[in-house]
Amino acid sequence: MPDIPLKDRMKIQRNVMPAQDPTQRVHNFNEVNLGYTPEIARKEAQRCLQCKDAPCMQGCPVHVNIPDFIARIAEGDYLSAADTILQDNRLPAICGRVCPQEEMCELRCIVGKKGLPVAIGNLERFSADITLTKRAKRPVGKLPIPTGKCVAIIGSGPSALACAGDLVRFGHGVTVYEALHAFGGVLVYGIPEFRLPKEVVRYEVEALERVGVLFEKNVVIGMTLTLNELMTEMGYDAVYIAAGAGLPYFLGIPGEELIGIYSSNELLTRVNLMKAYQPDAVTPVLNYKDKTVAVFGAGNTALDSARTALRLGAQKVMIIYRRTETEMPARREEVQHAKEEGIEFIFLAAPLEFLDNGEGWLKGVRLQRMTLGEPDASGRRRPLPVQGSDFNMDIDLAVIAVGNGTNSLLRNTPGLEFTKNDTLVIDPQTLQTTRRGVFAGGDIVTGGATVISAMGAGRQAAQSINTYLKT
Ligand code: FAD
Ligand code: SF4
Ligand code: SF4
Repeated sequence: MPDIPLKDRMKIQRNVMPAQDPTQRVHNFNEVNLGYTPEIARKEAQRCLQCKDAPCMQGCPVHVNIPDFIARIAEGDYLSAADTILQDNRLPAICGRVCPQEEMCELRCIVGKKGLPVAIGNLERFSADITLTKRAKRPVGKLPIPTGKCVAIIGSGPSALACAGDLVRFGHGVTVYEALHAFGGVLVYGIPEFRLPKEVVRYEVEALERVGVLFEKNVVIGMTLTLNELMTEMGYDAVYIAAGAGLPYFLGIPGEELIGIYSSNELLTRVNLMKAYQPDAVTPVLNYKDKTVAVFGAGNTALDSARTALRLGAQKVMIIYRRTETEMPARREEVQHAKEEGIEFIFLAAPLEFLDNGEGWLKGVRLQRMTLGEPDASGRRRPLPVQGSDFNMDIDLAVIAVGNGTNSLLRNTPGLEFTKNDTLVIDPQTLQTTRRGVFAGGDIVTGGATVISAMGAGRQAAQSINTYLKT
């Protein structure tokens, strides 16, 4: 770490992430954040006080050695900075982009007590991006002696990728079965290109292929193959279920079946994965050009849907939320970016009914004003309807982004137990399900959560599976 007195380090202002201009970026799907240059990264790294107890590490679910990797960036040794992160987090280019750092590592940063915290996520992304080519060309190195045991992984999202990476390093054979035609889970079908370029995810999948992980696409476990077939006829010694929570919830109000109403999953999958914005797309979306679009919800999925609608050419896009900005679960950066791009926010309003144009197409929504009461089970203040406050609003298209549940494909599998919320029952220590040799983690256990928590579960499961296979 360069020898800069503490008081001088404290004076350095947080370095802003360079970004595409809002007036330009609303017309393209390219990444909004452009990344730090080496000069900016080294300056930002100098803000770190190298705290002995590193409270920032307690805020990171996988305990990345933050002071160590930041010190290496400050010294200009970017490859060893990336290697430090990789010891705990196999997907730094992804987490540096999408972790809600303001609630995790950066929330605990000492520098943040008196000003803005060290930009840990931006630095993580920088070290991962700048070393990508070097890391890709690095020889794989000596692989462990094969144990002869094989593990099947269901799903290919961050939880699956993290688990696969550790299992091959233990010497086990690993096959990842993915229902879709691309690998990466929400990282490829949900989070848009303008927040997470798909090439970053492809790189991570290829890195796993190089160390021997097998990937099978278009295989729906529960339909194409059953869990029983995997464990009996196909002879897998253990299974890790990381099938996520991809089933969209709806509002359950009249008119929700009208043409012009999408679930966020459908919109984002068609646009991200099926490139619906291209003229020759095989699964296009309705024409968003010059339309008025209302998105219901206030999480990352809602914000991603709204910003996607804008890029599809919508003239006006509104986020309609029954609470206020304070309670919004979306990342702060996304809210900020959405505002810069001209997304409108309508707070304290809830939909009562979608309105029909008489031919089965959406033409508007009836809304009701809300007010906030006492906190509910989620800790957020409960929205309460204001009687007699209904009003109508004209809209052409609507996107429902009010959360996801787990899909039902594995529900009838013998030996597996589900909670009343349809998440899988597991032992929290081992992540083993109620069926011996079958483990589970990520969103299928927690419900919709974060990339880094899903990855953390994947790594924990790999440890447990390794122990299980040795006994
Ligand atoms: P997933 O990523 O959901 O992957 C599960 C995979 O399993 C999918 O590819 C699915 O096709 C496959 N699958 C399902 N059933 C089967 C089956 N029967 N057979 C075979 N394959 C199957 N988190 C953040 O930290 N930051 C963000 O900014 C953020 N933004 C988000 C934006 C959106 C639009 C969404 C939807 C989520 C976002 N999240 C974000 C949440 C985060 O992406 C998830 O918590 C995380 O991806 C969960 O990982 P997973 O591996 O458990 O499951
Ligand atoms: Fe922060 Fe996420 Fe990196 Fe952990 S993995 S240090 S929470 S950005
Ligand atoms: Fe650096 Fe902040 Fe972590 Fe201290 S808490 S080591 S200043 S990143």
